[in-house]
Amino acid sequence: LTAQILSGREAAAAVQSDVADRAERLAARGHNVGLATLLVGDDPASHVYVRNKHRAAAEAGIASFDRRLPESSSQNDVESLIRELNEDPAVHGIVVQLPLPPVLDGNLAVQAIDPTKDVDGLHPHNLGLLVLDQPGLRPATPSGIVRLLAHYNVEISEKLVLVMGRSFLVGRPLALMLGTKRFNATVIQAHSRTVDLAGLARSADILVAAVGRPGFVNAGYVKPGAVVVDVGINRTERGVVGDVDVESVGRVAGAVTPVPGGVGPMTIASLLENTVSAAERSGR
Ligand code: NAP
Repeated sequence: LTAQILSGREAAAAVQSDVADRAERLAARGHNVGLATLLVGDDPASHVYVRNKHRAAAEAGIASFDRRLPESSSQNDVESLIRELNEDPAVHGIVVQLPLPPVLDGNLAVQAIDPTKDVDGLHPHNLGLLVLDQPGLRPATPSGIVRLLAHYNVEISEKLVLVMGRSFLVGRPLALMLGTKRFNATVIQAHSRTVDLAGLARSADILVAAVGRPGFVNAGYVKPGAVVVDVGINRTERGVVGDVDVESVGRVAGAVTPVPGGVGPMTIASLLENTVSAAERSGR
């Protein structure tokens, strides 16, 4: 491979040490920062994500509350628990681990979160502030991606970025964020109906793959020297792999983020950063 590997573990450690300092300053004034997660049902991947969030919170000196509900829970059970967390002064951030079991509505659950505690940045209020380019809690994965690029001094301003995927969790908010006056990228938002995706992708200086298909992006999608960000987390017989075929892409790209150890740790670091920001603003 000739591409540089942009490790998220190294960049996340830098963010987390800053978060830990801020949490300590709040604790010294009697405010212990708290993050609550809500996990509904038995999805094994969701259990791993929640465990990782609690571990990282503990390392940063953030108290965490691990709330769980059974698979059979009703929408009302979920929203009642969220309302309880909204009222709890020890909780500054609330994460509803998505996806919820199929009979439940994840969007409505997120809308039940107090927007000032919505540290995943997925409440319509916070997504609206992103559209308006006003301060607010930003979605964790897109924030993690821009931090990762900043850590390695990857220039975003005036670059052409193609974002593959338009989910409300990753692709759409990332495309919005990169196009703001803060980042000044020119953004192509691609999806499953995009015509000549490979051709468009080959024009991009920065290519972000958030499609959820193992090894989908190969060298045919990449302009020589481009920076390739792999958001995918796909469980396969070979273990966890991204959306990028690193063997192929690594010979053409200038830099590529690894999976695991790329965007994943940055997402958690950004979640903790949002939590400490929410606590600083709440004043309690
Ligand atoms: P999602 O909701 O399933 O969205 C996938 C997107 O990819 C959709 O917009 C879809 O287009 C598009 N797509 C699917 N097939 C395509 C194709 N052949 N060509 C072009 N676009 C295609 O997934 P998500 O929640 O955004 O997650 C994407 C991946 O990132 C998953 O592997 C997920 O596990 C991972 N992820 C990682 C992190 C992290 O922290 N690293 C966080 C969140 C998610 P349509 O809209 O047209 O269907």
